[in-house]
Order: sequence, then C-alpha cells, then structure tokens
Amino acid sequence: MRLVITGGAGFLGSHLAERFLGQGHAVTVLDNLLTGRLENIEPLFGRPGFTFVKQDVTNFIHVPGKVDAVLHFASPASPDDYAKYPIPTLKVGALGTHKALGLAKDKKAIFMIASTSEIYGDPLVTPQKEDYWGNVNPIGPRGVYDEAKRFAEAMTMAYHRYHKMPVRILRIFNTYGPRMRKNDGRAVPNFITQALKNKPITVYGRGNQTRSLCYVSDLVAGIDALLHSNINTPVNIGNPRELTILSIAKLIKKLTGSRSAIVHKPLPTDDPKVRRPDIALAKRELKWQPRVSLEEGLKATIEYFRS
Ligand code: UDP
Repeated sequence: MRLVITGGAGFLGSHLAERFLGQGHAVTVLDNLLTGRLENIEPLFGRPGFTFVKQDVTNFIHVPGKVDAVLHFASPASPDDYAKYPIPTLKVGALGTHKALGLAKDKKAIFMIASTSEIYGDPLVTPQKEDYWGNVNPIGPRGVYDEAKRFAEAMTMAYHRYHKMPVRILRIFNTYGPRMRKNDGRAVPNFITQALKNKPITVYGRGNQTRSLCYVSDLVAGIDALLHSNINTPVNIGNPRELTILSIAKLIKKLTGSRSAIVHKPLPTDDPKVRRPDIALAKRELKWQPRVSLEEGLKATIEYFRS
C-alpha cells in the first residue's frame, strides 16, 4: 500500500509512519511543521518508500502516483497549542479535512480522520460511547478544536454518503508516549518534566477531574486495525482505565522518584470533568484492546524525557 499521512511529523503521525513503513508499505508525510517536528521522522529519511513534503494541507494538495489510504492527522492537538493557533486549528480541521478528502476521492483511496474524545466536550454521560452526541461549548477556548473535529466528522460522513467513499472515523482519547513535546502543555509531559527537575507539579483545579490514558503503541495498533476494518462510522480508541489528574500526578512523582511538591493552579475554562472511552465496539469489531499498563507506559515515556 501507499499511504499519505498528514501531520506525519507529529507525535501520533510519526509513530504511524514508522509502523506502516515497518510493514513494507510506502508512506508520504505531509506536514507544515507548525507543531510537528522533523526530528520525529529523522530516522525515516532514506528508508525505502518514505517521502516528506513540507506543506500546509489547508491548501490544495497534490500527490503524484497511486495512493491507497489518506490519513488526516494534521492539527495542533494540545489545549495550549490550539489556544496559541486558534485559526490554523479551525482551518486544518475544516479546510484541511476537505482537501484531504478530495485527495482520497481522486485516488479512490480509503480516508481516515483523526477525530477525538473532545467531540464529546464536557460529557454528561460516562463512559463515552460512540452514539453519545456530546456537550461542547462552540465559542469557548476549546471550541476551535472541538468544533473543527465535529465538522471534520460531518464532512467525512457526507463524503461517505454522497460519494460512497470508504471512510474511517477514529475518536482518539488521551494518548501519551515518546515524541510528545515536553512543552506542549499537556498533563503528562508537564508532570514528567516538572518531576524530573524537582520543580512544582502543577495540578489544575483540585485535580479530581478524570482522564484515561492510552500508551501510543496501543493506539497505533488500534488505528491499524480500524484502517483494515470496514467500519465507516466512528470508533473510540483509548484505554478505559480512568484516574483523577491528582492521582496521575502522584504516580508520576513516584515513578520518577521526584522531590517535587504538588501545587494547584486555576482550572482552565471548559476543562472536561470526566473522560473515559467505552471501547466495546473496538473490542468486538476490531478484536483490539490496550495491552500496555499505565505504569509500564509511563516508565518508557519518562525514559524518553530523561534522555
Ligand atoms: N492539567 C493539569 N496540569 C497541567 C496540565 C494539565 O492539571 O500542567 C490537567 C488539565 O486541566 C486537564 C487534564 O490535566 O484536566 C488533562 O489535560 P491535557 O492538557 O493533558 O489534555 P485534555 O484531556 O484536557 O485535552
């Protein structure tokens, strides 16, 4: 197969590129390097079948030759990043999805959109199942990401229904692992960097909000399974083990052997109070479930940040 991965120099995109190249497929990465980094894909340069094009996918995309799958993973993805780049975030989710769908249609390729648990907003139902419509504030600071991804899902379903295109809608829950940027503002990189420097660990609010953290290799295996399925409707991929943010901070402190104090900072606007995937659909249809424990995954991530 030949795959095009937008955002392929980012955290998830680069792990996907590596996985598919390793399986003998050809991979073309398109990335404008706004939040992606060349160092994530440096080891892939020179590997047979790998190409990189520095490109903003909100503009017309042309890729010569055959393409079997287009995976649209380009987007700022941490709350700090999309607060910093609100308009590029809306554009890549809306215009970028349209361009990537157009490329897939032209090439008669499968299209996959990296959607998110953020489409559930601050959920009133837990765990979140694919048939829950969500509770999103369209005009809040997170709305630029949430609504762009909701639009992206709507656009993807429209192409599926109108053009009869094969599509995959992946709803990604909080994922962590090597290649996250230490300054992307998310809880796991913040806590690990702070703990390693024995600086205060910043827990927002009381820390009783929950998240469910999935290790990147598990997520990537789920994506591979979804791509090769024939499910055209959304599928949650994530780890259902739910913890409070305070307990995640304490666990990271313990695993790093840190002397950091845990301090509290104001809770950001519209910060979801709970988040936990219902993965019954993925288990049943993809025969997929996460395998890496949080302790194991955090240890590997801590090693990456240490080095
Ligand atoms: N958070 C925190 N301290 C930090 C960064 C994040 O307490 O230094 C909290 C944040 O308020 C949220 C949770 O950790 O409740 C997860 O935040 P993250 O930015 O990782 O992703 P989100 O799930 O909110 O998109």
